[in-house]
Amino acid sequence: MIDVIVIGSGGAGLSAALSAKKEGKNVLVISKTYPTHSQTCQAQGGINAVLSSTKDDSVENYFNDTYKASHNLGKKEHIEFFCSNSSDTINWLDSIAVAFSRDENGNISQRKFGGTKAKRTCYSSDYTGLKILHTLYDQCLKENITFQNESMLLDLVVENNKVKGVIVYKLLTGEIEQIQSKAVILAGGGYAGVYTGFTTNSYATTGDCIAIAYKSGAKISNMEFVQFHPTALENKNILISESARGEGGYLVDEDENRFIDELKPRDEVARAIFTKNLEGKKVYLDLRHLGLEKINETMPQERRLVQEFMKLNMENDLIPINPSSHYSMGGILTKLNTQTSIKNLFACGECSQSGVHGANRLGGNSLLEIVMFGKVAGKEASRIIEEDFEEISDNKLKAIKMKIENLFESNNYIDFYSIKKELGRLMFENVGLFREEKKLKTALSKIEEFQDSIKNIGIKDKNKTYNKNLTDYLELENMLTVSQMIVNSALNRKESRGAHYRVDFKEENESFDKNSIMIFENGVQNFFFEEIK
Ligand SMILES: Cc1cc2nc3c(=O)[nH]c(=O)nc-3n(C[C@H](O)[C@H](O)[C@H](O)COP(=O)(O)OP(=O)(O)OC[C@H]3O[C@@H](n4cnc5c(N)ncnc54)[C@H](O)[C@@H]3O)c2cc1C
Repeated sequence: MIDVIVIGSGGAGLSAALSAKKEGKNVLVISKTYPTHSQTCQAQGGINAVLSSTKDDSVENYFNDTYKASHNLGKKEHIEFFCSNSSDTINWLDSIAVAFSRDENGNISQRKFGGTKAKRTCYSSDYTGLKILHTLYDQCLKENITFQNESMLLDLVVENNKVKGVIVYKLLTGEIEQIQSKAVILAGGGYAGVYTGFTTNSYATTGDCIAIAYKSGAKISNMEFVQFHPTALENKNILISESARGEGGYLVDEDENRFIDELKPRDEVARAIFTKNLEGKKVYLDLRHLGLEKINETMPQERRLVQEFMKLNMENDLIPINPSSHYSMGGILTKLNTQTSIKNLFACGECSQSGVHGANRLGGNSLLEIVMFGKVAGKEASRIIEEDFEEISDNKLKAIKMKIENLFESNNYIDFYSIKKELGRLMFENVGLFREEKKLKTALSKIEEFQDSIKNIGIKDKNKTYNKNLTDYLELENMLTVSQMIVNSALNRKESRGAHYRVDFKEENESFDKNSIMIFENGVQNFFFEEIK
């Protein structure tokens, strides 16, 4: 019998799995992708911490920067915990051999990121996420943790508001199975990927866990807050990390003039760039003055990406960039111990709303969050394991099998891939960096139209095994659910705050110093704002 099921094998899922295993529990990691393909491997710039060797910084400064960036929506107790434990988290990663870049004295190097007062971001050249992810995976293999890869979570088995297991689709065999466990940890990543064609996110980042937790009755929060990164390669959505600006890079307009403090918070920088784009002007990242040696030392991967995808050289050329949907601050609402509103269900990483980021995330805070709260989730999920296994019904399993069978049997007369693309454009244009009621309402009715149009269609590929067509369809359903939630929250938050900017309500309004909350109850979406206590 399995004690703890972890959904997702990114940094959050693997940290959770290691920590539950350390508590002596029987752990199963279920993941849509192979662990080494999880989006965490894309993180370039770094992970924040106040280390004992950090100069001119303190936990108090870190707390202040993170809380300020949250625009009063961060939960103080959670941010305090987060900042105070940053050093221990890095020391733990160091102890399992994450290859951090170091200075001449052997201390872990740190660079400056936007919205911060100090050099606080530890890094591994520009491969930070990849090094962390691969090291965590090595540790999991060493600990003999069981992995079930290429398996997609379809639903949670929740009875009397208590999770008792999961239902998954095994891509390789086509089987749909119900697996019972005492606790489930959701670590399925964020939802910025619903902006298809306008996002730095991986294909797998479709908000599945949030959509599934929502439909199972969990409290979901702050879905309107989607972060747009200022510097993706123009029309390519390939990220050039904030570290490029942290290392001294400039943002310049067509006349090569700087027009904004490059290290302001991401939302402000992204809006300044997008305003130029809306005027039909280009914006460039200028790294020429840094020189080849520094570029090779601090951003070799990004230099190669620029060469390959733009046919340009960072040391000689201006690099055209534009903002791209990058990170989601909202998600499954969690307590400090990562518990969700459903008993025995935990969430960590980007799929959670852990109270740390509020309306805007600081660069480098996500990698810290996934490892720190991943470890907490593994430990806390292990605590409840003393309970006995209970009988579990197979009603949901039967219903899902029937739904999938229908998808095989029904005709496919709509190209749902084009809907996925249209959804991405709709979200970027109507629910992007600048929002207003009319466009949000248009987006909402269009999303409902998409939902209706895919309801009665089947899938084209009728093969039972390795059916990507089926998983793509199921992902689109989740993307539409999540998009509807983003738009509804954005419509209801009639103010501007952090990453959520309403041209029809330009000011921050203190009556909205609250979390937006959504709960799906008796087939109806219940939306309200809740005090942050
Ligand atoms: C290009 C890029 C650069 C970034 N750089 C930085 C940085 O420098 N510093 C920083 O702090 N943050 C950075 N971020 C953000 C950070 O990388 C992510 O927030 C973080 O890695 C998310 O980790 P996670 O473990 O929560 O999710 P992920 O790494 O996204 O992993 C999610 C896992 O869940 C699985 N999954 C999803 N749905 C299902 C399902 N239905 N069934 C089964 N499995 C499922 C996926 O296969 C995957 O294994 C960056 C993000 C991007 C896109």
